[in-house]
Amino acid sequence: MEPYDIIIKNGTILTMDGDNSVVEDAQVCIRGDTIARVEPCGNEACEAKTTIDVKGDLILPGLINGHTHAAMSLFRGLADDLPLMEWLNRYIFPAERRIDARFVYTGSLLACAEMILSGATTFCDMYLFEDQAAEAAARAGMRCMAGEVLYDFPSPNYGELENGFAYTESLIRKWERHPLISIAVEPHSLFTCSPELLIRANEIALTHHRPLIVHLAETVAELSEIKQRYGKTPVDHLESLGLLGPHLIADHAVHLTTRDMDRMSERGVRVIHNPESNMKLASGIAPVPDLLARGVTVGLGTDGCASNNNLDLFTEMDMAAKLHKAHAMDPTIMDAVTVLRMATIEGARALGLQDLIGSIEAGKKADIIIIDTDKPHLTPMYNPFSHLVYAARGNDVSHAVINGQLVMADRKLLTLNLEEVMMQAREKAMTVRKWIGIE
Ligand SMILES: [Zn+2]
Repeated sequence: MEPYDIIIKNGTILTMDGDNSVVEDAQVCIRGDTIARVEPCGNEACEAKTTIDVKGDLILPGLINGHTHAAMSLFRGLADDLPLMEWLNRYIFPAERRIDARFVYTGSLLACAEMILSGATTFCDMYLFEDQAAEAAARAGMRCMAGEVLYDFPSPNYGELENGFAYTESLIRKWERHPLISIAVEPHSLFTCSPELLIRANEIALTHHRPLIVHLAETVAELSEIKQRYGKTPVDHLESLGLLGPHLIADHAVHLTTRDMDRMSERGVRVIHNPESNMKLASGIAPVPDLLARGVTVGLGTDGCASNNNLDLFTEMDMAAKLHKAHAMDPTIMDAVTVLRMATIEGARALGLQDLIGSIEAGKKADIIIIDTDKPHLTPMYNPFSHLVYAARGNDVSHAVINGQLVMADRKLLTLNLEEVMMQAREKAMTVRKWIGIE
C-alpha cells in the first residue's frame, strides 16, 4: 500500500467525536490533507514519510479560535485598565485610523505564530485590510475564516462604505478555491452599522452562501443605544431586519433576554463566547449555560489581543469553565468536556466547518495538535479532559499539523521565521508609540 504522509503514533487520542471517544495507544494516519485512519497502534503494515512517536502524549483536534482581530496583537498591552470609551478614543481608534496593509500583515503573522504555538489551527478573524490577514494565515499554514470589517464611517482600507461591499466580494472571489482560507461578511456591530448596511451585508452573505458575522449585545452601552435608536433589543433589531438565521454568527452575545435566547435558538444563530475579553473590558458575563440549554451552538474565542491580552485558548477554556461556575455558584454548570468541545467540534460547528474539522475522524481534514504531558503540572493524569481545561497551557502543545502539513514540531515553527516575525512586530510598535504620542 502507498505510504501515508504522516503517522502520529503511540498517543492517547481525544477524538472529540459525538461520543467524545478516547482511543489509547493509538495512531492517526494522514494522507495528503486528510485523516485516513484512526486506530489502535500495532498495525505494522503502516508506513509513512514522516512518523511522529508521541510516547504517550495527548493527540487532540487543533483548537478553533472563533473570534479574533489578529492584527491587534500589535496593540497588546498598549493601554489597559481603562474605561472602555477612554481606551477606544484615546488609544485604539487613533492608532487604527493610521494602520495600513503592511501593519495588518505584520500583526496577523505575529498572531498566527502565537496561535500555532498555543494549539490553535483555525481562527475566525474580523479586521481592516483583511486580505492581509488571509495572506498571513496562508503563509503561516493556518486555517482562517476572514472578513473585512464594515461600518458606517470611512475605512482606512477601502474608504467609502460602497467600496467595502466591493472589497468583500473581491475577497470572496480571490480566496474562492484556497484550501485554508474562507471569507465571511462582517459588519462590525449594530451601533456602528446602519440598518441599510446590515441588510446589504446580509444580502451579500446569502447570495454567496457565506456566514454573516457581527458583534452582538456585547455591552450595556450597546443595549441602551439600540434601545434608544430603535426601541428594541439588539436581537429584536436583527430580527426586524431579517438577519437572524443559521448563517449568522454572533460574537459575545452577553446581554440577552430570555426571549432573545429563545429566538436565537429557533433561528439557529450561532454564538462565539469570549470570556476573557468580556471580563477585561467589564462587559459582563454571557449566559452561555442558558444558550447551551436551548441547543444554541457556542464556540470559543479570544477576541483581539488588546482586550485579552493573549490568544491562548487554553487559558480561555480555563476561564470559560471557572467564570460560569463562579457566576452560577454551581461547579457542575460548565464542565471540562463541554468547554473542550466549545474549543474544538462545537467551535467548528459555530463556523459551519464541522464537516471539515473539529474532531479526529477518518475523512476529516488533518488539523491535529499534540500535548506534551511529560511535565510536573500535568502529572499525574487521571482525566485528560480535566487536564486540558484546568492544568495545561498553550506552551504544552509540542506539534501541530494543519491540513496535513506539519507546521510546528517540538515547539519549532516550520512555516514562519519567528525571530523575524517578532522583530517586525517590534518595529511596528515604534510607529504605534509615535501615533498616539507615547515615546
Ligand atoms: Zn471582537
